[in-house]
Amino acid sequence: MNSPKTSFNANIYRTRRARLAELMRQQAGGGLALIATAPAAYRNRDSDYPYRHDSDFFYLTGFDEPDATLALNVSDSQIESHLFCRPKDPEREIWDGLRLGPEAAPELLGIDFAHANQTLDSKLPELLANQTALYTRFANSAESDRRVRHWIDQVRKQSRAGINAPSQLHDIEALVHEMRLIKSPDEIAIMRQAAAISAQAHVRAMRMCRPGMHEYQIEAELLHEFRHSGAQSVAYNSIVATGANACILHYRAGATELRAGELCLIDAGCELDGYASDITRTFPVNGVFSGPQRALYDITEAAQAAAIAATKVGNTFIQPHEAALRVLTQGLIDEKLIALSEVGSLDNALELAAYRPFYMHRTSHWLGMDVHDVGSYREPSADLALHNQDKPWRKLQAGMVITIEPGLYIRPANTVPEAFWNIGIRIEDDAVITAQGCELISRGVPVLASEIENLMHESK
Ligand code: MG
Ligand code: ZN
Repeated sequence: MNSPKTSFNANIYRTRRARLAELMRQQAGGGLALIATAPAAYRNRDSDYPYRHDSDFFYLTGFDEPDATLALNVSDSQIESHLFCRPKDPEREIWDGLRLGPEAAPELLGIDFAHANQTLDSKLPELLANQTALYTRFANSAESDRRVRHWIDQVRKQSRAGINAPSQLHDIEALVHEMRLIKSPDEIAIMRQAAAISAQAHVRAMRMCRPGMHEYQIEAELLHEFRHSGAQSVAYNSIVATGANACILHYRAGATELRAGELCLIDAGCELDGYASDITRTFPVNGVFSGPQRALYDITEAAQAAAIAATKVGNTFIQPHEAALRVLTQGLIDEKLIALSEVGSLDNALELAAYRPFYMHRTSHWLGMDVHDVGSYREPSADLALHNQDKPWRKLQAGMVITIEPGLYIRPANTVPEAFWNIGIRIEDDAVITAQGCELISRGVPVLASEIENLMHESK
């Protein structure tokens, strides 16, 4: 686990808390916001998983130790921030590393008050007393629900003394996730760096790839580049899938041997300073695409180009997907994977979703602190009566970050020309929406088939 850096900029987090407070005032006149970080998790006896903070908590505090809670007391004119964290403990720190502790936390993190964790049960009822609204996560874990209930109970017991418990419960995620959806220039700068490291890792994998290697060895090359470049972690478990494995969408890196004549699909990205990157490339194990591989690769690449052209301010989230579907479907018709005699026309094939046996996921997702980042894919609407599915797709705005990742996955079937069997291809890049269109931050690794072949040829 990494403690806050010496270059820690408390202002970034103070500004976010002020923005959250403003949203709470607009909605409920203020209240108490309460958010805990993620719990540490054991892997097996005496061995834990690498700790990963909760993204919402980190977004508001920049604090990455486990066992911490932020309480934000928001009135008309004031914001008071309280951090509950692990107390200093020289004995434990010898084993587990330094703790910031409540004495040093206010100065370093720019928090108003910090307390030892052990005081949560006495402090929280005080902070909740006479609040109208509580903003927290609910129905998230039985343990956190139980604790909130206990604290509110403590306040209710004081009703005869004229102290009121909150009467409104609001989902804090609804506000924080809207904030996280639009990335600041600082956040985009980190994401650019994360994507650049991941792109280098993909280049390394292409250069090192030789027939006879195993998927896990390619994974090792990716991990080498991530850690060597200072990324703290993978953003998600890497996929290294060769041959038919590429048609299994959530395949990991297994033990299959890479064979000449087959493709290798890598979906891997690092996490840097709390931000994810997410890149997929598909390349030939021996450095040269076969005819059928090249045909499907070029269709996928053209679909991605069409989706990229549709990724701009004012378009909706779904438009890049629709642009990709059109190109993929036309390509599948051209290559006789979809029979034109059955679908009649391209438009009809799209209407029938004839692409679905070969392309079963969406083209994009939000990217940020989480690889599948938060934020509604539908326009938020003040009209509570409007059902979610009736809300229009989100309009793209500058500062949003999405992936653009069309693919084709051809399983053996007697309706499909045999030359295409077991070919799985995906191409994925990360795009920051800008005023002009979008900035692809993951193009440090080639994407055109000819460029990939050249890179692999040079590395022979
Ligand atoms: Mg991916
Ligand atoms: Zn993705």
